[in-house]
Amino acid sequence: MISPLKIEGLPRIFQPWKKKIEAGCAVGFRENNSRASLAFQDGTPKDETVKNRQDFCQQIGLSKNNFYWLNQCHSSEIHTIRPKDLTLNREFFPPSGDGLITEIPNICMSIFTADCVPILFYDPKNHIAAAVHAGWRGTIQGIALKTIIQLTRDFGSQAGDIRGYIGASASPCCYQVGLELVQTFNEKFHDSKKVVLFKKGHGYIDLKEANKVILLRAGLKEEHVETSAHCTICSRLELPSFRREADQAGRLTSFIMLK
Ligand SMILES: [Zn+2]
Repeated sequence: MISPLKIEGLPRIFQPWKKKIEAGCAVGFRENNSRASLAFQDGTPKDETVKNRQDFCQQIGLSKNNFYWLNQCHSSEIHTIRPKDLTLNREFFPPSGDGLITEIPNICMSIFTADCVPILFYDPKNHIAAAVHAGWRGTIQGIALKTIIQLTRDFGSQAGDIRGYIGASASPCCYQVGLELVQTFNEKFHDSKKVVLFKKGHGYIDLKEANKVILLRAGLKEEHVETSAHCTICSRLELPSFRREADQAGRLTSFIMLK
């Protein structure tokens, strides 16, 4: 029996609405503690992943048809889930993109990561949620900003009301990058001293901080943004990490669902 485990439950930033939303980060564990994710792209046999998802959905009281995911492709494409989408079979053929938004209850929007940044959003005034995958490419393309723009444009959200949770990802303790990426991030985040760091002549990037900067620039209040302290590469929780495990890496599932 595989029991999906929530490694980070409802983020503090969402606590006041715990009756209205379910959110957190999860990975699956087999009995022997080896990892079994909810993603299809990590080499787990397909039928096992299907079973893991069923177990996970059962745990959060959800029909498996309402488990929404994306064929993530490091883009800035964001999909809004509308009532007409609910009849589509998304179990095996999800759309391509890296962000999901919905105002429909009981839709579990899931993002899979192994070092990239998962970001969850909730607007308590309009009761709308979003889930986003931001690797370095998505961060540079500003997918977090595009999400805020879509929430304000399509749903009447005010940036000052939106809460954002920036989940566990590769962190500057470990996320060493090449000169080209250092330059790209320096140009984009020249106003922040925390995004690009140097240690012993090597460049390191803080992807979580970069996304926080984007959210604050977009108008979110500092007290409405929470950042996970966990680094996927070195956390004692042994989170899935592509840097550390390469093709053997599972995937962290970050999810948010309106009740
Ligand atoms: Zn680290």
